[in-house]
Amino acid sequence: MAGADVPEGTIDVLDHGFVRLDDAMASDLSVVNAARVSFARNKQELEAEDEGLIGFLLRNRHGTPFEHNAFRFHVRCPIFVMREWIRHRWSSFNEFSMRYSRASDEFYLPAAEDVRQQVGKPGAYSFEPVEPGLAESARMEIETVCENAYAAYHRLVEAGVARELARTVLPVAAYTEFFWTVNARSLMNFLSLRNAETAQREIRRYAEAVESLFAERMPITHAAFVAAGRTPP
Ligand SMILES: Cc1cc2nc3c(=O)[nH]c(=O)nc-3n(C[C@H](O)[C@H](O)[C@H](O)COP(=O)(O)OP(=O)(O)OC[C@H]3O[C@@H](n4cnc5c(N)ncnc54)[C@H](O)[C@@H]3O)c2cc1C
Repeated sequence: MAGADVPEGTIDVLDHGFVRLDDAMASDLSVVNAARVSFARNKQELEAEDEGLIGFLLRNRHGTPFEHNAFRFHVRCPIFVMREWIRHRWSSFNEFSMRYSRASDEFYLPAAEDVRQQVGKPGAYSFEPVEPGLAESARMEIETVCENAYAAYHRLVEAGVARELARTVLPVAAYTEFFWTVNARSLMNFLSLRNAETAQREIRRYAEAVESLFAERMPITHAAFVAAGRTPP
């Protein structure tokens, strides 16, 4: 799967990655009906007053009405990004297998403007640009290491070593692919942490793409999340 053609309807992220909404069962109406079942009421369509209800639920952290929906995303990202992503336990993952399939030879090479230095103390770093000469030499260093790693991987596989062992030489810049299923409550938790100044730049780019797809499907919930200072319910 990794390295296959990019499916339609994807948002490109980084140099070889993407985010795509594979499917969703998600609407603002589901939040309203989940909340109103307390009063044995059900609606077929949203009404003006429902916007206020969604905002009230979100601000007051009544979280469960935001759980009756599901988003299934298809993501291609570097392994180091997925390592951060997979920490979000309130969701489901299935990943491309480098035991069963041969790894693609795509790896993340940051653009020159994304080569940065960290300034300050742990917990309060800021990330500043580096001078162009350093950006270029850092890129060359990363590229050389990755190309050598892939060459070793291919040699090992060609020599008959199992893919599950040959993959141990690959760097965390290697691309992987996964399906991610998550409900809106957990998704807002993910967005509050990963589409934030404090998040690593690379996962933040993915979180921005995820957020735009979330906002398309649940615009009122998304607007309430933003209005509440991006605090998840
Ligand atoms: C900027 C940043 C830096 C980070 N740095 C590090 C780091 O240095 N080292 C590191 O290991 N991780 C680090 N993390 C990962 C972080 O600690 C979380 O694992 C990750 O953000 C997932 O968040 P979560 O637990 O809220 O999400 P989920 O796992 O999806 O959980 C959602 C919510 O469910 C509840 N929950 C889930 N599991 C439990 C549980 N076992 N007990 C009680 N409540 C639970 C909590 O309310 C939680 O917020 C970092 C994350 C960020 C955003």
